[in-house]
Amino acid sequence: MREWIVAGNWKMHNTIQESVALTKAIVDGVRTIKKGEVVLAPPYTALDRVSETIKCSHVALAAQNMFYEDKGAYTGEVSPGMLKDIGCTYVIIGHSERRKYFHEQDKDVNLKVKKALSAGLKPIMCAGETDDERVKGITQSIVDRQINLGLSGVEKTDNVVIAYEPVWAIGTGKVATPAQAQEVHAFIRSILKDLYGSAANDIRILYGGSVTKDNIGELITMEDIDGALVGGASLKPDGFLGIIQKIAEKK
Ligand code: PEP
Repeated sequence: MREWIVAGNWKMHNTIQESVALTKAIVDGVRTIKKGEVVLAPPYTALDRVSETIKCSHVALAAQNMFYEDKGAYTGEVSPGMLKDIGCTYVIIGHSERRKYFHEQDKDVNLKVKKALSAGLKPIMCAGETDDERVKGITQSIVDRQINLGLSGVEKTDNVVIAYEPVWAIGTGKVATPAQAQEVHAFIRSILKDLYGSAANDIRILYGGSVTKDNIGELITMEDIDGALVGGASLKPDGFLGIIQKIAEKK
């Protein structure tokens, strides 16, 4: 039985004060929800204060990225140990914006996933095709490559979460239909079965891409959709709590 997760990726938004206010509203809003997992990924600058604010709640903390070395002369980077130290349990890895603007390759994603796991962090590894790749009919080969290379050498999957995020749906308002999303989620599950056998049934696969409280209701009824990675709609308590409530009702 897979437990649902809703993760809010705040990207490069929110001051410390705004982050704390948003976190308080979310912590209050989920107090009565006893199942599933709610994860917040604020910017690095707000991790410490958000970490304080979620203490004694069921909300977990994620970073939006990390480097794959423990320490050293890597100006501007943050290590998995630093993230653990500040209270993170999750880390988003290989988000399409990291791939696009910071040229992250599958091999970097793989190093980060392995490092996160060995450091005791749970990676939320992102994969998904661009608009052009979908139009060309190569969605499956792109996702297949990203999953296989991203998880290369990963033997234990208990702490691995996958996020299917079609790039054309991120921040565009063009959400995948439930059927489109389920098709790719089922495909990802089949890749995971080839790699890990029956353990694949326990790996959570989140959908991400223009999720709102108005469209999540149908998406979440799909068999292989185990939650959501939410960008824009996670920046307002009402939108994010609405998504969490719909998922908690239906899963
Ligand atoms: C994301 O950045 O992971 C994302 C899914 O963004 P949005 O919900 O805004 O499309």
